[in-house]
Amino acid sequence: MKKLNIEEIRELSEKLASEKLAPRAAEIDQNRTFPWENIRALGEAGFLELIISEDNGGLGFGRVCFASVAEEIAKACASTALIYVSHSIVTKAIELAGSEAAKKNWLTKMLTGQSLGAFAVHEPDSGSNSGAITTLAKKEGDHYIVNGSKFFITSAGEADFYLVLVRTDPEKGPQGMSTLLIEKNTPGLSFGQHEDKMGLTSTSSREMFFSDCLVPKENLIGNEGEGTQVIGKTVVGLGFFGAAAISVGIARSATELAIKHAKERAIAGQPIAVHQAVQFMITDMILGNEAAEAFLKVCAARADSTQGAAVINGFKAKLLASEMAVDVTNKAIQVMGGHGYCRDYIVERLFRDARGLTLHFKTSEWLRQDIAKAALGL
Ligand SMILES: Cc1cc2nc3c(=O)[nH]c(=O)nc-3n(C[C@H](O)[C@H](O)[C@H](O)COP(=O)(O)OP(=O)(O)OC[C@H]3O[C@@H](n4cnc5c(N)ncnc54)[C@H](O)[C@@H]3O)c2cc1C
Repeated sequence: MKKLNIEEIRELSEKLASEKLAPRAAEIDQNRTFPWENIRALGEAGFLELIISEDNGGLGFGRVCFASVAEEIAKACASTALIYVSHSIVTKAIELAGSEAAKKNWLTKMLTGQSLGAFAVHEPDSGSNSGAITTLAKKEGDHYIVNGSKFFITSAGEADFYLVLVRTDPEKGPQGMSTLLIEKNTPGLSFGQHEDKMGLTSTSSREMFFSDCLVPKENLIGNEGEGTQVIGKTVVGLGFFGAAAISVGIARSATELAIKHAKERAIAGQPIAVHQAVQFMITDMILGNEAAEAFLKVCAARADSTQGAAVINGFKAKLLASEMAVDVTNKAIQVMGGHGYCRDYIVERLFRDARGLTLHFKTSEWLRQDIAKAALGL
């Protein structure tokens, strides 16, 4: 991709999303097809390079640009956007904490879409608390022997590389955690059944099982004991902005569809748009949407410019945007009446997709607690 500014990149992503991703979105949602074609299209257009520095073969943009692209992708196809965000988390981790060999061998392929990345933090018994994970990586000679499992992993079974949070020293609490990049075909790694989700259906959510999984020591990302920091800078420092952007993209799509429908749907010769009850819902949708979008930009800009601001700003942007998207998509169904409840009218998919974003990464309840604790100094 030649040197462009943020607005030009956003326009390019909007064009690609509306021309290539939107037309297939309903079909891949219904068939639960993993959107490989979409990922390749994003790779060919250069969007996988966006947040990687020029020194490492990327375009060197920050979270503001990343969020605007994720938003445009999500407006067309939220499943593709979530896969895109998950992949970007892994490329960022390799850039920030991977060895030169890791960058040369893995990052280059991931930036063109030849290889796909996914991150695996969550476990069946850990919930949103990454501090409660138990997957163990024991160092023996030149390898780590990994045992444990991960749950609900986006792109599981499809991705080529998994950024996995493990315990390398169970005695040390958060300081005993590390991140490994584990290849899909590593002996001892297997995948569970596909979760039959209500939304984001094309993302492939599966459990991952590690049974004496032998991972070369070169696959350590960061130093031993730095897992929490790596996850903080990537899953939290980038992924939460991605999740907020996906929410805004979904809500924008729902708002546009509801406005169009309100003007076209006539009852007894009158468009429903003339009714104040419908107008009020549309106003609330527009305001919710624009407020969350503007707040996301503010939070992303703060995180881009101020060291250490990424976590709390990511939490705030994600909480506000994901809850807004559930509300807006729900209102879009109301504006569209029975039509909104049917698959042909798209907003029912948008509602199902939006619902997953209040759960993924950290649930709204966790985020409310974390934001309050930061303000209270607890
Ligand atoms: C669509 C989707 C994609 C995902 N993709 C990935 C992925 O790629 N990689 C990955 O690692 N994970 C992924 N996840 C997992 C995700 O991170 C977890 O679902 C999330 O952290 C919540 O954990 P849980 O589902 O176990 O809910 P639980 O922890 O069981 O929570 C259930 C309820 O209890 C509340 N609760 C739990 N503990 C507390 C507490 N201490 N205080 C207050 N309330 C509490 C929660 O807020 C929630 O309301 C994905 C999830 C979804 C839905």
